[in-house]
Amino acid sequence: MPAMPSAQPPASSPPRYSKHIVLTTYPGQSGIDPVPLEWGAPDAKARGPVVVSRSGNLLKRRNAIGAHGGSYSIYNALAVAAGDLDADFRPDFQNSEPTFNFPSQPAWADKEKIVSMDPYGHDVVKRFREELDAGWDIRPTMAVTRANMKLAEIGEAIRDGQLEVDGSIVVDSSGEVRVSKVAVEPVWYLPGVADRFGVDEGTLRRTLFEHTGGSYPELITRPDLKIFLPPIGGLTVYIFGPPERVSDENVKLALRIHDECNGSDVFQSDICTCRPYLAFGIREAIREAQSGGSGVVIYFRKEGRALGEVIKYLVYNARKRGGDTADKYFTRTENIAGVRDMRFQALMPDILHWLGIKKIDRMLSMSNMKHDAIVQSGIKILERIPIPEDMIPSDSRVEIDAKINAGYFTTGKQYTEEELKQVRGRGWEKWEDISVSG
Ligand SMILES: [Zn+2]
Repeated sequence: MPAMPSAQPPASSPPRYSKHIVLTTYPGQSGIDPVPLEWGAPDAKARGPVVVSRSGNLLKRRNAIGAHGGSYSIYNALAVAAGDLDADFRPDFQNSEPTFNFPSQPAWADKEKIVSMDPYGHDVVKRFREELDAGWDIRPTMAVTRANMKLAEIGEAIRDGQLEVDGSIVVDSSGEVRVSKVAVEPVWYLPGVADRFGVDEGTLRRTLFEHTGGSYPELITRPDLKIFLPPIGGLTVYIFGPPERVSDENVKLALRIHDECNGSDVFQSDICTCRPYLAFGIREAIREAQSGGSGVVIYFRKEGRALGEVIKYLVYNARKRGGDTADKYFTRTENIAGVRDMRFQALMPDILHWLGIKKIDRMLSMSNMKHDAIVQSGIKILERIPIPEDMIPSDSRVEIDAKINAGYFTTGKQYTEEELKQVRGRGWEKWEDISVSG
């Protein structure tokens, strides 16, 4: 069992930064003494807090690489640079505790089941109170709250009689819905992440170092630090109905895993099925909760198959200029991105294990990558539900038919190569006319 950090204040009136710039640290270096952290230990105290701050003397006690906030760590740095935020600022967490206490799960203490989030990240204020009071910079990497939400499609489903107003989950006929939410920032246990991808830890560290422009030298110099807070987006869990039902094996669970597509999810572009499938997932999750089960939608910030919007739009252009047919759909992406998909679902099931999900009755997804990752992690999927035909926008047929042909789950038609050539997206003709005349 690792010794807990002594609850001494980390520094007395620390300077804003050390006199010389510390580019990196080494395990044997004078004063380097990381707070003990044993991933997979039986409880939070035995596991130890994640300490990633470089503030004052904490630089020597860090047990993790990176910074809090994922990609927002850069904005944090800007705020400090601009003088708006004190470099040694300590948050006041009063009243920020979770709105629901998720029951502890065996997976929280299993270093193989959860490798990409801190299972105690929502509860650090309670579990590391003593250390926080002593001035340690320890921060939540998860937050649990509740909210009301309103989606046009849910209002329509009520008007069409596909969804009922129950006064508790669906509050009124305008489509207002009550939801519990969990936000999660990534915290990687590097040996576990390497395992998931079938590479050795050294290879993973070297590649992360090289392809972040050498931004995290401790990936190389500190093999003793096993935790990395990567500068990437996290995920949000949306739970419909009582959150305690999510881990209850005796009730049905409907679940959608959704990867971000801003253009469709928010702005309702019709080139893909993302928003319709998301709305369908939310509707079915609500329905399951209304009939005594549980409904969960998990939203991952992996824009454009984790390629980002710039690559995505370049691919759109290549598709539209090159004759947008379903047989060429994946080639267009591969030409520009090198791969057809960068979402790698290997880490995705962690959140399901954190929630205590043991089986999914209705999986609201057609993706084989998601299905296989979940099933291989030990969670059963009883039924797979494709997006209904009448919810597929016509211009998105190119995408959905190409995916089905490539092995996406369907209960409908499988297309041949010859037929895929006939599935054609809308061109730009009308747009070009407008710009010429306009
Ligand atoms: Zn999309």
